[in-house]
This record gives sequence, structure tokens and C-alpha cells, in this order.
Amino acid sequence: MSAQSNSFMPPLSPMLPRALFQSEHEDFRRSVRRFIEEEVTPHHARWEDQQHVDRDIWNKAGEMGLLCLTVPEEFGGIGADRRYSVVVLEEIMYAGASGLGWAVHSDIVAPYLINYGTQDQKQTWLPKLVSGEAVGAIAMTEPGTGSDLQAMKTTVVEDGDDYLLNGSKIFITNGYLSDLIIVAARLGDGPKGAKGISLFLVEADREGVEKAKPLKKVGMKAQDTCELYFNNVRIPKENVLGGPDYLGQGFVMLMKELAWERLIISVLSVAGAESALAHTLDYVRGRKAFGQAIAEFQNTRFKLAEMRSEIGIGQSYVDRSLELVLERKLSPEAAAAGKYWCSDMMNRVIDECVQLHGGYGWMWEYPVARAWADARVMRIFGGTNEIMKELIARSL
Ligand SMILES: Cc1cc2nc3c(=O)[nH]c(=O)nc-3n(C[C@H](O)[C@H](O)[C@H](O)COP(=O)(O)OP(=O)(O)OC[C@H]3O[C@@H](n4cnc5c(N)ncnc54)[C@H](O)[C@@H]3O)c2cc1C
Repeated sequence: MSAQSNSFMPPLSPMLPRALFQSEHEDFRRSVRRFIEEEVTPHHARWEDQQHVDRDIWNKAGEMGLLCLTVPEEFGGIGADRRYSVVVLEEIMYAGASGLGWAVHSDIVAPYLINYGTQDQKQTWLPKLVSGEAVGAIAMTEPGTGSDLQAMKTTVVEDGDDYLLNGSKIFITNGYLSDLIIVAARLGDGPKGAKGISLFLVEADREGVEKAKPLKKVGMKAQDTCELYFNNVRIPKENVLGGPDYLGQGFVMLMKELAWERLIISVLSVAGAESALAHTLDYVRGRKAFGQAIAEFQNTRFKLAEMRSEIGIGQSYVDRSLELVLERKLSPEAAAAGKYWCSDMMNRVIDECVQLHGGYGWMWEYPVARAWADARVMRIFGGTNEIMKELIARSL
């Protein structure tokens, strides 16, 4: 069998028409696809080995207008709506280009600045995030706590006009190449629990910021994920996201965009499953056993039908959720339900796709093997699926 390494497989046509996307989105989709084919896919295996993308891919993506699509024009962006972000996220998954940490940079970090940044903070950072001159990361999780964010230990203490930041953060996407890190920390002598948490804009080149080597991961190997240490990092008080008046508002800020952040994972999950199915369909049509194509066995046909149905149903939920996000009406529990169901579905589907590939499905050069390794974390990050179920149960 010939290896399918780096082969892009267009997704199947949607089960139900996707009414949210029009010709301008499809034009944009084509340009994203071409960019990934030309600038990303040829380098992806090398990036997996070095455990991070080349720094210049950020600048190239910025030049092509692929970063931070929702940033308003006055700050260097195009002020597009989130359908364009979804197109980029889907194309990344269709191409298996999981090294690109654009979701965090464009769709999480930039929106924090858009929603809460002072005029100065927006002017300083948004144009750089749009152009790729700066890479953005957000650091909440700590070695000792992830799900229970309120238990974080990273602290700031006042020191004249500045704060001194101390602590460490782990599993930080884009951390290794980051220029701007939004750090969640608590005020040393402030209230306990959620009220003590604030968000700080920390320039990665400040003295005392230390980046560890990218972590060796099971999947998404080309994406940089690292541990960050803050040792007496001096940060001016105006670096509180939103300005000094927003001190102690960090947790509220973190909660506000959670529905969108969880929808991002649902989008990635459905697109990832879609891509694995397309690869699998191609494979089982070509591979023969007992004198016939694997695709002709009834088991294969039923499995393909089940996967096609689950993906189609997931896609409808995702598209309806996106419609609600555009109206700013997606509830946290609906987003949590999508995140948990779609990421579980993606894992079920891709596991089945590996099975239908037989031994080849477990070989790294096959896209389905990479997709299988990449998929597992969707059930963990962005809030674990158990936490999603807690949130849904609480809403009953
Ligand atoms: C590749 C990757 C990228 C990431 N990127 C970032 C990033 O950019 N920024 C960032 O801040 N973080 C990031 N994270 C961290 C991620 O969000 C956390 O790993 C996740 O929130 C889980 O936290 P934890 O790992 O500490 O697990 P824990 O919270 O220790 O959970 C361990 C287990 O206990 C379960 N559990 C915990 N609490 C409960 C409960 N109340 N009820 C039932 N079960 C419970 C969990 O569901 C899980 O199964 C990333 C993680 C990975 C792996």
C-alpha cells in the first residue's frame, strides 16, 4: 500500500446543506486551503520532529490575512464575523495541520483584547497579532490545577507602580513561540477563590519569564505546548487586562467567552472526524481482502453509514450553535453539550477509521493514525468532558 502521508482529502459534501456559509466564505475557504497546502503541509512532519512550527509561518499567515479575523479594522483587522474563523479551523482539521495554534491566538487571545483591552492595549497588541509579528498565548492551567482554576497559585504582589509575578503554568499552547501571554494570577493579599483572580498582559521577553522546552505530546506533535515559569517578573499596573479597574475581574472575563471557546472544540472535532472519514472511504475502496474491496463488506458499509450519520448530526448542532454565537445567544450548557458530544464522537469515529485501515491505520505516515493521536486531547482541554457534564447537570 502506498502511504497517504500529507495527502489532503476534501471532506464529503455535507449531509444537510450548511445554510450559514455563502460564496464569499467558500472563496475564503479556497484561499485558506491553498495556503495550508503550499506553506504548511510540506513542513508539517519536520515541525512534528522539532515540536513546534517555524516562527515565520505566523508572519506568512498574517500577510495572507488568515489570523485574528474578527479584529476590527481600526486595529488592523478586517472585522469579519466568526464564520470566517470557523472556515480556518475546519481547513486546519481537513488538512491534518494540527501544528497550527491559530485557534488560541486568533479566536481566544485576540477576543480577550477586543472585549476587554484598554484603547492602549488594543493599539499595542491587536495589529501585531493580526500580522503575526506577535504570537499570543493564554496561561491559566498550573501543574497543580487545571479543572479547578480557582485553586491557582500564581500570584502578583504590589511593588510600587508595578506588580511582581511569581508562579508557573503548564500545557500552554503557543507558549514556546509566544510574544504575548495573557496570564491568570491572583493578587497575593486579595480575596480567595474566583474574586482574587485577574488577567495580566505579560510580554514574553520580560526578565524573569522562562520558557521550558516544548512538551513531548502523544498527538498534535507540531503544536508548541510548553511550561512557563514566572520568577519575580515585574509588570506595570497598566498591564492588567482592561486596566487597573479590572483587577479581580479575571474569572468573570474567563467565563464570558467560554461558550465560543467550547464551540471551537466542537468545530475542530466535527471537522477532524469528517477528514478521517474521507481518508477512510478512500482507503477501503482501494484495499482488497478475500477478493473484494474492504468497502464492500457489510460491516464496513454499516460502520461508514454510522460515522457519516454521527458526523452529519454533529455538524447540524455545531452550525446551529454557531448561528447562536453570531447572535451572542449560545448558552454555556449548550456549548458544553456540544463540546463533550462532538469530541467523544470524533474519538469514536476516528478509532473506527483506524480499525478499517487495519495495521496501516496504526502507522504514523497515515493521516488517520495522526488524527487518532490528535483527537484524544479534545476530550481533555478546553474543560474536560467530565466538567462539561457537571455544567450541563447544574443547569437542569
Ligand atoms: C495539548 C494541550 C493544550 C492545552 N492548552 C492550554 C492553554 O493554552 N492554556 C491553558 O491554560 N491550559 C491549556 N491546557 C490545559 C487544559 O485545559 C487542562 O489540561 C484541562 O483543563 C484539565 O486540567 P488538568 O490537566 O489539570 O486535569 P485535572 O483537573 O487534574 O483533571 C483530572 C481528571 O479529573 C477529572 N475531574 C476534575 N474535576 C472533576 C470534577 N469536579 N468532577 C468530575 N471529574 C473531575 C477530570 O475530568 C479529569 O478526568 C492544555 C492542555 C493540553 C493537553
